[in-house]
Amino acid sequence: MNRKIPVLAAMALILALFVALLDNYFLNNDAAPTFADEQKKIYLTFDDGPSDRVTPKILDILKKENVPATFFIVGAHAEKRKDVLKRIYDEGHSIGVHSYSHKYNEIYSSPSVLLKDIELCNEVICSVTGSFTDLYRFPGGSFSVAPELKQAVLNQGYRCVDWNASFRDSELKDMTAGKLYTAALNTVSNPERIVMLAHDTTDKIATAEALKEVIRHFKNKGYKFDKL
Ligand SMILES: [Zn+2]
Repeated sequence: MNRKIPVLAAMALILALFVALLDNYFLNNDAAPTFADEQKKIYLTFDDGPSDRVTPKILDILKKENVPATFFIVGAHAEKRKDVLKRIYDEGHSIGVHSYSHKYNEIYSSPSVLLKDIELCNEVICSVTGSFTDLYRFPGGSFSVAPELKQAVLNQGYRCVDWNASFRDSELKDMTAGKLYTAALNTVSNPERIVMLAHDTTDKIATAEALKEVIRHFKNKGYKFDKL
């Protein structure tokens, strides 16, 4: 009898459990989109914009490739660039609250301060789109945010969405399009449903440069692109 088979089966089970755990860890499941159909899906998300320099480049690529995306915006940036925010909206992408100030020390000091920051950002969104959004992403992700802060946001009815793959464009040194492309492919932890983190702030030219090839890769793999 081949004694390797039970060992391999046990290893496969451990791997499957690990992947399931990892997915729960990365994605706030109350807020996760429902995945009724079987097709593999990818959600491109862009944080911290809009910027004059990078957001329009990203929008051009999304338009050309005909894929939707989600932008978690910083209110203080959007207030100065309402034309860019309007373009995001007009081109059919989702817009979520990220923060008004994006100053961790301030916003995470208490639930009331955090909710005020969210409200301010949502008012900027409403002034451009005509409605408030229920979509939210914690600056830095929800992973290390205090439970009472998370609860305060959930109590307001927000869908809070983290990520489970990343361009790593806020961490890598000497960013090149090639490095970001590799990171985007290598960080995928759940290939059935990918929520990809990227940034569209003014210094993220390499993100815009990597985007087309990342989109092409997942198109070739049969993914459907969707927005949150
Ligand atoms: Zn951020």
